[in-house]
Amino acid sequence: MLLSDNLSLLPRTSSVTIKKLKSAGLETVRDLLLLKPNRYEDYRVKIISTTLTDGAKGTCSGIVETTKQLFTKSRITIQQVTLRDEFGLITVQFFNQRYLLKTVQVGTKLSCSGVVKRFGTKLLFIPTHYELCAPHIHTGRLLPIYPELKGLSTRLIREKIHILLESATDIKEHLPIEIIQRYSLLPLHTAISYIHRPLNEESIIKATHRLGFEELLKIQIATRKLRNHWNSLSKKVPISISNEDTIKFNSLIQSLPFTLTPDQEKSLLEIKNDLMSGRRMNRFLQGDVGSGKTIVSLLTSYYMYLSGNKTLYMAPTEILAEQQYNSFLQLLKPLDIKIELITGSHSYTKSMNADIYIGTHALLTQITRSSDIGLIIIDEQHRFGVKQRALLSQKGNQPHLLTMTATPIPRTVALTVLGDLDMSVIETLPQGRKVIKTILVTDTKRKDAYTWMNDQITNNKTQIFVVCPLIEGSQSETLQSVKSATTEYERLKKDVFPSQSVALLHGKMNSKDKSVILNTFSKGLISVLVSTSVVEVGIDIPNATIMCIEGAERFGLAQLHQLRGRVGRGARQSYCLLFPTNTQVRNERLEFFTHHNNGMELAEFDLKKRGPGSLYGFQQHGYMDVQFTTLSDMKMISDTQLAADYLITAWKESDYPEFYKTVISFQKELVAKD
Ligand code: ADP
Ligand code: MG
Repeated sequence: MLLSDNLSLLPRTSSVTIKKLKSAGLETVRDLLLLKPNRYEDYRVKIISTTLTDGAKGTCSGIVETTKQLFTKSRITIQQVTLRDEFGLITVQFFNQRYLLKTVQVGTKLSCSGVVKRFGTKLLFIPTHYELCAPHIHTGRLLPIYPELKGLSTRLIREKIHILLESATDIKEHLPIEIIQRYSLLPLHTAISYIHRPLNEESIIKATHRLGFEELLKIQIATRKLRNHWNSLSKKVPISISNEDTIKFNSLIQSLPFTLTPDQEKSLLEIKNDLMSGRRMNRFLQGDVGSGKTIVSLLTSYYMYLSGNKTLYMAPTEILAEQQYNSFLQLLKPLDIKIELITGSHSYTKSMNADIYIGTHALLTQITRSSDIGLIIIDEQHRFGVKQRALLSQKGNQPHLLTMTATPIPRTVALTVLGDLDMSVIETLPQGRKVIKTILVTDTKRKDAYTWMNDQITNNKTQIFVVCPLIEGSQSETLQSVKSATTEYERLKKDVFPSQSVALLHGKMNSKDKSVILNTFSKGLISVLVSTSVVEVGIDIPNATIMCIEGAERFGLAQLHQLRGRVGRGARQSYCLLFPTNTQVRNERLEFFTHHNNGMELAEFDLKKRGPGSLYGFQQHGYMDVQFTTLSDMKMISDTQLAADYLITAWKESDYPEFYKTVISFQKELVAKD
């Protein structure tokens, strides 16, 4: 069989099983052979009848001498089997496997992997895996344990993979030999075989490295192709402004109520260089909440205006769009620049004579294509799709693109996944920001916390956010999340804050109701706002100084950090209270969070602990479907970058068709997931 063969050709396999494999997303031989085990259990130690010790883990094998089934009062059934090895007898005890004795019969050869346990005076062997032969597939090895797939046991998957590896499946190397040699990679067939049938721990590490390298290489080639495509499309007239306009530009900077931070200046310079380069800008501006990205984007828009170009500015919600609109008006109206707000609930004049359009997704439908749109700004981007950027781009004649996010993206991830973009980072916040105090609240302290909050509302007129847990790992709001926010709202209103005004906000409400609640909250007429986590409460409410997060352990650190960033905007000390679901168990991540205020450090911590899928904003991103790499290995990332450069320049696609096919299908998947 070939790697590209369909799994329906799998020998000795029923059509039901093949259907199940398909519905688990396993279509081809490659899919199955590249299924990564979650972990390995070590059963290599040989357990011998004469030297049984309590707690020993390993494999015993021999011939079945007696069998018996026992029924207990507690409805547990016991299957007891005595096994004769070369030296004597071992009692093997299974639980609740009523039909086991139909196959495990006197005289059969049996091999069991598990542990020895003491029951009273007897030492019994309790197996977790067995097979009716000498140690072969399921026992006596470093045993791969596969992820639970619907209706497919790890045993069945192990068997099918074994069949493929035994049946002389043709696993040809598809990477150029130079790459294999230069980076000392295992050949593909060896790597695949070691993943499923490792000789030792080292072989697992080497095999994982090889397959991870390949995954990263695929991403690097794909992002490079995107970048090359972008650059080839985009010869632009360099954007520059006259000396007179340069004076105007600088005097706007001078007139600001603050001086720009060095990082803001650097980002602005990088943007200006892009605009003047004659290439099309595709820049990503990254900076923690409150780091001052708005002013950078405003100055960029002003620069575009001076050069005779219009700007489209897209915010994720109406409230944020309005807020940005007001900041822009304040600074740019005196300069006679026309700014228009375009949101679902804001009618639009359709005259297209403004200089800057600020709005929500409504921009996509309401703005007609116009060649004088020279710049698109996408603010607070939490999803990093390629397609969305492309859609907005169609509004102008290949406009320059500036994407902004407060989501911290670890450098290693940025270099691979966002490798098609240029990156500017605002690392240092403007001076004088107060650090938000973060506290992990245990069950026993919950009551005290509520008393303190009541007191803060009554005496300091403070306002409080209560965010309720994310129920599923996805970004879309589930019905259950709404339910949990609603339940919490009712509980708080009735039992905890009976004399305060409490309100509920969730994403399933219509946008008018949402905006009424948020406006009332921002006027200070609501004291406690209970919401789900996906509701964008990105608005500036300086009077809100307490953020409570229920079910805190369910969130990624970057997302917790975003939530925390919703307080601490005023002069007063702010607090973030974390309420984990279970406060009995120590939570290393949450403890780390209470001591760290830097979004990037938090994201890197989560990347190491929980892998790339946990990074906020990347959950549904096709790039994150990596299995064998963690995207935190800087050395591998730079190696694959070099390798990708080399392959793209020195090799034709026809030189490595098999691997190239996987790159193409990966690219298709990316756009489909957008
Ligand atoms: P974000 O990066 O989260 O979009 P904003 O652009 O909204 O942050 O800026 C947050 C606040 O910081 C605003 O009130 C803004 O006026 C202020 N700010 C921006 N730059 C500076 C600076 N260099 N010095 C002091 N305050 C600044
Ligand atoms: Mg912002």
